[in-house]
Amino acid sequence: MTSRSQSRALYERACQLIPGGVNSPVRAFRAVGGAPLFIARGEGATIWDEDGNSYVDFVGSWGPLILGHAHPEVVAAVREASAHGLTYGAPNKREIALAEAVVGAYPGLEQVRFVSSGTEATMSAIRLARGATGRDLIVKFAGCYHGHGDHLLVNAGSGLVTFGQPSSAGVPKAFAELTRVLPLDDEDALAALFAAEGNRIAAVIIEPIPANNGLLLQRKTFLEALRTHTKAAGALLIFDEVISGFRVGPGGAAAHYGITPDLATFGKIIGGGLPVGAFGGTRRIMAHIAPEGGVYQAGTLSGNPVAMAAGATTLAILQRDSVWARLEELGGLLEHKMTPVLANAPMAVGQVRLGSLAWFFFQEGNAPRAAAAVDSAAGARFAPVFHALLERGMYVAPSAYEVLFLSSAHTPQHIAQFADAFGASLQQAAKGERP
Ligand code: PMP
Repeated sequence: MTSRSQSRALYERACQLIPGGVNSPVRAFRAVGGAPLFIARGEGATIWDEDGNSYVDFVGSWGPLILGHAHPEVVAAVREASAHGLTYGAPNKREIALAEAVVGAYPGLEQVRFVSSGTEATMSAIRLARGATGRDLIVKFAGCYHGHGDHLLVNAGSGLVTFGQPSSAGVPKAFAELTRVLPLDDEDALAALFAAEGNRIAAVIIEPIPANNGLLLQRKTFLEALRTHTKAAGALLIFDEVISGFRVGPGGAAAHYGITPDLATFGKIIGGGLPVGAFGGTRRIMAHIAPEGGVYQAGTLSGNPVAMAAGATTLAILQRDSVWARLEELGGLLEHKMTPVLANAPMAVGQVRLGSLAWFFFQEGNAPRAAAAVDSAAGARFAPVFHALLERGMYVAPSAYEVLFLSSAHTPQHIAQFADAFGASLQQAAKGERP
């Protein structure tokens, strides 16, 4: 068995100093058991842990690394920018370059404001929506994650329309009461909520390609209904494209489905691996943001020149090298290679994919489209498969409900290795053997 003694020792040290040993809970291996790997290095599609083991990486830092680790041109851009100073707290021209790239690519966008994370982007978009409409209610969908802002850390129970229940301690009930939670894929629930409260709704926020509770691909007609209801009620439609932005194509889910939201949020890829988020919309709506308007929003490191350089370089390479076409080919190959593996699997596993996002769901039947259709027992079936994959040098997210991210650094050979490893891991897990 592979030695992971260095990772384990580091984890024990980290646990003394950092809650749970991690700076973001999804990194802990709580759902699958064991200690997380401590990563020493990444290059292309490969990561190395502190014990010197290598893995083909299908996490890609949870989305940003669409070009793989340490892409030479992105690293060079970071070096070049950082040699001119790391931060100024004053305007710099690199902000304009990234803003032009984002505004130019995304349907309906006229202005963006940069922040430092996806969470900040969605929090700010919500405040802007409230400020612009003068309304308080926010609608989100069960199974969609929008970062850890108070009003968005609200989950669904059952029922057609659920009043928000905080899904974290520390979120005041009074905040959660301003959030309505709807099921995905349900036009009737949507219509009922708008009939009852449409004129109180500031915004509906959705991951148009929900990728935080498996990959819950929506019917286009459902997203169209959302557009119709929000427009009729004078509520803003916010597409949270933190994952899908620049991953499914330059115009994100908006271009993919041909539906233009009022506001969009970005993160991950637009920072090229450095901390960047953004929210944007038309000039008319964005004029509500300070210093032009009365909705306050700010950040010491917002528009950081080094991060802007990493993001702008990444977006330029995506365009120049037709990376999306290549990712679609790789994704198609993954699907193709996995089809016989899953057909012969000793347990129920299905697959669903959009471009370079793929999800293997450990349950019977078709790909679920709503959170309630995702089997909560899948995690237990996935855990031994995860460890068997790790033993075979394949690094996927430590949860049954996370997607795989492909990058342009993956090769057909990596994909074939993954499919073989997955088949063998399923067999091993079904026999109850622990690696
Ligand atoms: N929105 C979506 C759709 C996300 O996937 C995430 C993070 N996974 C966020 C917002 C929050 O982004 P961050 O972790 O950068 O705060």
